[in-house]
Amino acid sequence: MPLVKPNIVISRCFVDAVRYNGARISSSFMDELKNHVNFIPVCPEMEVGLGAPRLPLRLVEKKDGVHMIQQKTERDFTDSMSDFASSFLSGLKDIDGFVLKSKSPSCGIASVKIYASMEKKPAVRRDKGLFAEKVKERYSNLPVESEGRVTDPDIKENFLTAIFSLSEFRNLKKNITSQGKLVDFHTGYKLLFMAFSQSRMRIMGKIVANHEKHPFSSVIESYEREFMEIFTRRANRKSHINVLQHAFGYFSPKITAGEKKNFLSLLQRYKNGDIPLNFLLEIVRVYIARTGDSYLIRQKYFNPYPEELQWR
Ligand code: SF4
Repeated sequence: MPLVKPNIVISRCFVDAVRYNGARISSSFMDELKNHVNFIPVCPEMEVGLGAPRLPLRLVEKKDGVHMIQQKTERDFTDSMSDFASSFLSGLKDIDGFVLKSKSPSCGIASVKIYASMEKKPAVRRDKGLFAEKVKERYSNLPVESEGRVTDPDIKENFLTAIFSLSEFRNLKKNITSQGKLVDFHTGYKLLFMAFSQSRMRIMGKIVANHEKHPFSSVIESYEREFMEIFTRRANRKSHINVLQHAFGYFSPKITAGEKKNFLSLLQRYKNGDIPLNFLLEIVRVYIARTGDSYLIRQKYFNPYPEELQWR
């Protein structure tokens, strides 16, 4: 199945000069992504009537909760931001994830400074921005990242894998009518699921097998629930090693003793954190292409998102 472009809501300041200081944020990750996904840009602060440039906002803790207040004018934007966020988010359709600007009192997904007052004093704690908080509440099962966090290769890998998988399933769901197609889809995702959660993978296997003969509509619903849930988890080094050892069982009978030794030594180096996952995956892709193992060829695990994004 060809890769389907995910639909990603992004902070608009990654593409337009809408920051409080009238600037645009440059992000290499967003530059990489732009040809491979559909961006849905939004600037919550512009949407509540603030222009660019504008006086900055800050989050202030009060007795009844956190308020969004404009410094200098002391205008309170809490209600207008909350109303905008609710109406914007409830109007979204077919969304696969979010990339929001870090540290912003609106878009920051964590570590945004919360102050006790408008006085010039240090922040008392850190939390999410007001718009980001609503995003996380409403879309708790979708990947939400910031441009800062995706500089970590593992976070980036998980995010890209999740958004491309979610968009592929969304597309499949639109056209699927038979159990056979779902079985096919599931088979191609087995190793990927194994990396994210073995227990979920087994649950999904049972749903697809459908020994209880549930109607197909309820099978696809249950499967979707688990599919969304599995990508709220993270694949980690240990789970990748487990999957790669499993894959090794398929291609090892068809490679030479020297190649086996080399692969196992690279696996150890990955385990020690000396080489990145992509380096190892590239080697396995070569073995798969050469040995032609039909089970491994169809595994999404080895190509979960466009090749151009794999080596950035
Ligand atoms: S961080 Fe959010 S609110 Fe601030 S400029 Fe960017 S899009 Fe607008």
